[in-house]
Amino acid sequence: MSFSTVTTRTARKEHKCEFCGKPIAKGESYQSVFIANEGSAYSYKLHMFCDDICNTEAREADEYSTLDFLFDCARDRVTYVKDNADMADYYGVTEEQISFLFGEVAA
Ligand SMILES: [Zn+2]
Repeated sequence: MSFSTVTTRTARKEHKCEFCGKPIAKGESYQSVFIANEGSAYSYKLHMFCDDICNTEAREADEYSTLDFLFDCARDRVTYVKDNADMADYYGVTEEQISFLFGEVAA
């Protein structure tokens, strides 16, 4: 059994986003994600934007039971859409997300 919760919070001090590694500024809204799975628990903070990319609301906890796997899936999804633009709607990936992750200006 596993479960997860996502809570929107306002940063009282600067945090580091687990997905992109950039700072979450004091006063900025962020997503606090907690996953418990078979005796292990993971807690992490994400930019709202990065949470969108990771789509943590939609994840199935058994499938995405580890942080690294969740992030790998998100990166794979964006990378795939970068090379297959016609799949953007299917995966819900935007040009903004692609340019954010890859540091490119979308055409
Ligand atoms: Zn981030």
